[in-house]
Amino acid sequence: MIIDVLKLRQKGKKEENIEFLFDISPDLLQIPSAVFSTQGKICALVEVYDNEVYVSGTLTYQVTAPCSRCLKQTVITQTVEFDERFLPESRMDEEEDLALIYKRDKIDLTDYINELILTDLPISVLCKEDCKGLCPQCGMDLNTGDCGHHIE
Ligand SMILES: [Zn+2]
Ligand SMILES: [Zn+2]
Repeated sequence: MIIDVLKLRQKGKKEENIEFLFDISPDLLQIPSAVFSTQGKICALVEVYDNEVYVSGTLTYQVTAPCSRCLKQTVITQTVEFDERFLPESRMDEEEDLALIYKRDKIDLTDYINELILTDLPISVLCKEDCKGLCPQCGMDLNTGDCGHHIE
């Protein structure tokens, strides 16, 4: 996940649209039995200025996890919008977040994107908003019917 700022400058480009896919580290997932079921995708506009670079766009990724109530495998697609300013090393003292500092005219988005995913990830997954879950007594999926144990 590297943006080569020097190359953009050499091409005389002030802005460029980028699009790429990347593997997401499974370590980011906190939901039990969850997996990232597709690669992450970034679509962004890179704007190059003399002493800073703006990157704005969307990050899309997919998580497959058991529904936290009924355990049915559920796929959720997350889209995160972002808009960030990255600074060169020479302006390091103006920015506390090291993920937003780039070195030798190359922006490594890895830490920044991981952070975005971490803040965006839901803590649990539901197959649908009103999932009824499983009967605590017999384990029947209450979305499919009533086992009779359920007391209103
Ligand atoms: Zn469910
Ligand atoms: Zn039951």
